Parts: sequence; C-alpha cells; structure tokens
Amino acid sequence: GFRSRAAYKLKEIDEALNLIRPGQLVVDLGAAPGAWSQYVRRKFAPKDTGAGGAAVGELNGTIIALDLLEFEPIEGVQYIQGDFREDEVLAKLQEAVGGRPVDVVISDMAPNLSGIDVTDSARIAHLIELAIDFSQNHLKKDGALVCKVFHGAGYSQLVELFKAHFRVCKPIKPKASRDKSSETFLVGIGLKQA
Ligand code: SAM
Repeated sequence: GFRSRAAYKLKEIDEALNLIRPGQLVVDLGAAPGAWSQYVRRKFAPKDTGAGGAAVGELNGTIIALDLLEFEPIEGVQYIQGDFREDEVLAKLQEAVGGRPVDVVISDMAPNLSGIDVTDSARIAHLIELAIDFSQNHLKKDGALVCKVFHGAGYSQLVELFKAHFRVCKPIKPKASRDKSSETFLVGIGLKQA
C-alpha cells in the first residue's frame, strides 16, 4: 500500500498524461508522508524477472523529495527537510539536482490555511510561483510541472501564470480528490523558454 491516498491522485494524473517514466529525474515538493515518492519509485523499480520473481538491477531513475516535515526514509529516494521558501533550502535542493535536467517536478505543497481568502490565496500563489521559478531553472525543455492548486480566489491568475510559462496547461481534477472539493491540479508541459 501507499503511505497516503494522495498516491491515487498522482496515479490518475500520470495515467492521463503519461508523465512519469523510468530513467527520469523527478523532484517531489511537499513530499511527506511520501506516497507520491512511493508511486514514482514503483514506476522506476526494475521489472521482476520470470524465475522466482525477484527484482534485479538498480532503480532506474532518481527521486529527490523535499518537505518541512520529517520523512520516513524510502530506499532510493533522496530527502531534503526544510521550507521550500527559504534560500538555504532551495540551495540544498539545487545541490542535490547538481545541474542535471529535471524531467518532472511534482508539487503537492499546501500552506497552512488561515481561512482568510486573500491571505490563503497569496500563500498558495507564492508556493506555486516558487515551484514555477524552480521549474524554469531546472526542467528539461519538454519537462512537466504538476502543482496542487485550489479553486477560488486567485485560481484564474494561477492558470494564466502556467500559460505564460508552459506551452500546454492542463487542469486535472482527480476523482481521488473529490472529498476536498476545491482541490485541483495544474499540469504545465514544455517550457516556453528554456
Ligand atoms: N504528496 C504527499 C504524499 O503523497 O504523501 C502529501 C503532501 S501533503 C498534502 C502537503 C505537504 O506540503 C505537507 O507535508 C507540508 O509539510 C508540505 N509543505 C507545505 N508548505 C511547504 C513548504 N513551504 N516547504 C516544504 N514543504 C511544504
């Protein structure tokens, strides 16, 4: 099983758009407790061999995960603990990426909500702007960014922001997130200028 049902949201997005493939470098932002990383890791796992069913070979792909919280280790997943908004933490992430082109950035980051619409939408937008900045600097030209967003104040501006940076912008509402009615995901594919 997965550490959280959040895995099924990423699974639906991935099954719709075929984003996660073996051999990639994936950055998972707001990764705790780790279900999205687990999902990606499974897609990177070597295929079972026929005889005895034992998996052989190394994990084919790289996963770098980041969150504010502690993270129970997942074999093959590099973890950075810290606040993505802090320069020092961003520097650690950049060091882990080491100049390699990133295939997919997945962000399920959500700020603590205050219940005050303007404050919340500003916090959400800030995290997304930072994820777009990071993508602009590190994604492959045809790479993708998946971000959790919320319907309501500020949503249409975020769609415009995605459209300004990516050739394709797809909003996806996975069935698995039906319980939280305002949650949805924006997927940007292909940087406009890389
Ligand atoms: N995708 C995860 C999974 O599958 O297990 C679930 C992510 S959870 C919905 C959102 C996460 O975003 C929380 O663990 C929270 O700590 C993290 N987060 C929120 N703001 C953050 C920030 N500024 N920097 C890093 N992580 C942040």
